[in-house]
Amino acid sequence: MKICSTILELQNELKSAKKTVGFVPTMGYLHDGHISLVNEARKQNQTVVVSIFVNPTQFGANEDLSSYPKDLQRDFKLLQDAKVDFVFVPSVDEIYPNGACTFVEVDSNLTKTLCAKSRPTHFRGVTTVVAKLFNIIDPDFAYFGQKDAQQVAVIKQMVRDLNFRVKIRVGQIIRQENGLAMSSRNSYLNKEQEDEALVLYKSLKQAKKLIQDGERSAQTIKNSIEKTIKLSKNAQIDYIQIVDSLTLQDLELLKDEILIALAVKFGNVRLIDNLLMEIK
Ligand code: AMP
Repeated sequence: MKICSTILELQNELKSAKKTVGFVPTMGYLHDGHISLVNEARKQNQTVVVSIFVNPTQFGANEDLSSYPKDLQRDFKLLQDAKVDFVFVPSVDEIYPNGACTFVEVDSNLTKTLCAKSRPTHFRGVTTVVAKLFNIIDPDFAYFGQKDAQQVAVIKQMVRDLNFRVKIRVGQIIRQENGLAMSSRNSYLNKEQEDEALVLYKSLKQAKKLIQDGERSAQTIKNSIEKTIKLSKNAQIDYIQIVDSLTLQDLELLKDEILIALAVKFGNVRLIDNLLMEIK
């Protein structure tokens, strides 16, 4: 496994890399969710590139950029074990040299709903850095997690609109044994908060059961989710939304493929989770 910190170094290496190239962008502090994407990339490509870059442009002014967890040596070990070929670990200056002032923005409901309501500049930062990484690496396939469902929808739209040749692959949500969706931010939770955060998956499972039993009213399902989440006394709900999985438009009656998406704060820790479901 080769670790590259400059664009030039990585591109020189990739000149002679065997096709196809699979790419997994991350912000590091890796867990099994990341590794499941790396494993998919490893199965499907000759060459696997993973980036570790805590992208400042996707953090709001009052968010956790400066405290975002970091353990590069541990990450390198996990990536080596997963037989990754190249790790790209650029500095902020390498990605955003002085004077950089161009952004990539998906301008639609996709970047105005769900997480964008409380994080209005987040997706502009994500699309900008992912577009730059696609230009730098020119991968055949790029791997993203369903955990960040809105990010997947936004990236797919960007790839279509800007004619990137990369194909997007989506990996399912990887959970801890207790059901909590894995996230680098889970490391901020104390034991009590982690126990309380289990209401997220519990509420989604209950919603799934309601739908399987025939419920089609979005409001009824959202009420059930809210009731379950409020069993946790410290949960502060940011949003509970049921949207069309492609357009992310709110639904009143469930049809086609739906996304039930949640963002809830436990103390200062904001967690997201979701459920994708085909309505028959
Ligand atoms: P991050 O390091 O948080 O930017 O995540 C990097 C990639 O890993 C993104 O595509 C995430 O959606 C994905 N990811 C994060 N958590 C999970 C999880 N629990 N299951 C599957 N994929 C995940």
